[in-house]
Amino acid sequence: METAEIARRFLAFFEKNEHTAVPSASLVADDPTLLFVPAGMVPFKPYFLGQRTPPYDRAASVQKCIRTIDIEEVGKTSRHATFFQMLGNFSFGDYFKEKAIPLAWRLMTAPVSEGGFGIDPERLWVTVYLDDDEAARIWRDEVGVPADRIQRFGVEENYWSMGVPGPCGPCSEIFYDRGPEYGAEGGPAADEDRYVEVWNLVFMQYERGEGGTKKDYPILGDLPKQNIDTGMGLERLATVLQGVDNIYETDTLGRILQDAAERTGVAYGDDERSDVMLRVVADHVRSATMLVSDGVRPGNEKGGYVLRRILRRSIRNLRLLSGSDAAYLHGLTETAITAMEGIYPELRTDADRIHEVIETEEKHFSDTLRSGTALFSRAAERTLSSGSAQISGADAFQLHDTYGFPIDLTLEMAAEQGLGVDESTFRTLMEEQRETAKRDAKAKKLGNADISLYGRLLESAGSTDFLGYTDHESESRVL
Ligand code: ATP
Ligand code: MG
Ligand code: MG
Ligand code: MG
Repeated sequence: METAEIARRFLAFFEKNEHTAVPSASLVADDPTLLFVPAGMVPFKPYFLGQRTPPYDRAASVQKCIRTIDIEEVGKTSRHATFFQMLGNFSFGDYFKEKAIPLAWRLMTAPVSEGGFGIDPERLWVTVYLDDDEAARIWRDEVGVPADRIQRFGVEENYWSMGVPGPCGPCSEIFYDRGPEYGAEGGPAADEDRYVEVWNLVFMQYERGEGGTKKDYPILGDLPKQNIDTGMGLERLATVLQGVDNIYETDTLGRILQDAAERTGVAYGDDERSDVMLRVVADHVRSATMLVSDGVRPGNEKGGYVLRRILRRSIRNLRLLSGSDAAYLHGLTETAITAMEGIYPELRTDADRIHEVIETEEKHFSDTLRSGTALFSRAAERTLSSGSAQISGADAFQLHDTYGFPIDLTLEMAAEQGLGVDESTFRTLMEEQRETAKRDAKAKKLGNADISLYGRLLESAGSTDFLGYTDHESESRVL
């Protein structure tokens, strides 16, 4: 079943069950606590919190999502992408667990000829929150899931919040057993690669306050109503229904991956290391295409920095794969647009602009690499011949200062040679430079500084600021 058909079928099922189909919101979150939308519930947050009255009490959507927190997993696990689509059904104070659970089960297991996904119920496992006896009872007694395929987990797995203040609640998840060739028996508790998490049903009933950790955060109290928020990864469901090994081999991502393999002359499936790189390229090119389509432009801050980082990572991987510095992004972006335009026709109408933004960044980064790579190689050789395992902070600083090499690029290139970087000295040097810039700015105010120097310093300091950002798990991280 093609991805577009899976999405269509999901919405049709919930429309038949009196849900209003709501189009995806932009990836750029209309929410000061988030850079990008990480989950389908985000556009509905004010309804859960009782801040706004929903125009419907049941909705369903296919929401575009970005999770930068998963970037390191991309290509390595079978199931994480930076851009993915979340299928969701929502109840705003209407039905609760007693209906959400059987509905989800029906859609998953009903025959394809009856509008379902036709999944063999023997393959499905479910989890519930530790003390959620009610959910466990519904799964067992109403739905008929054998007790030994219902597992209980704690806060970390089965209590959902966005990681920031907002609605939260216990959840119950559906897992698909890919079979013994993928790992040990024993349900999701035993092996997360064999038992793939597909669908999360969240029983939104509390409000999370400020602070705390993922395991231990303040609950402010009950939400005005009991709600349902579910999220199922479209790419993960496609992996199951298309019988492929991982999300990168499904019809949409697989198309971009194959194109990347052909263009770089690397066969997919020959070697794990290049397979990971091909998956990263497929994922990142698609994410970049979707982000640019939603108005994000590469830059040095916030969302723009995330996009820049994603694009640069794809370019680096393409170069490593092909052994050439040819420009590949136009062709690959075109393939991403073709793969995705069935669901997002605006990609085609906006294609010229999308290409323009991505190619400009490719050119820009290409220039950076051209000028800095020789210096980097000398620094790496010096490091190796001195018997050290760390490129000096001074070299990293010079790469940044003279050639605009972001520290993460230096780190990545060093790691490829089995080297580290003396980041602490690098940071000290950056800090000193910032202090100088600040002093000069102050002096400028007093009327006795060379203004052009200040401008230059700020420019270079600004180009590699490490930027934390908030995501659904509220971990401030660096890409
Ligand atoms: P995982 O444990 O596999 O990282 P999660 O528990 O973080 O997933 P949820 O926050 O419960 O995911 O999101 C709901 C659903 O969205 C998941 O069950 C999964 O199907 C899908 N999903 C989550 N993260 C990703 C991702 N990075 N790429 C593709 N699909 C995802
Ligand atoms: Mg996750
Ligand atoms: Mg999980
Ligand atoms: Mg989950």
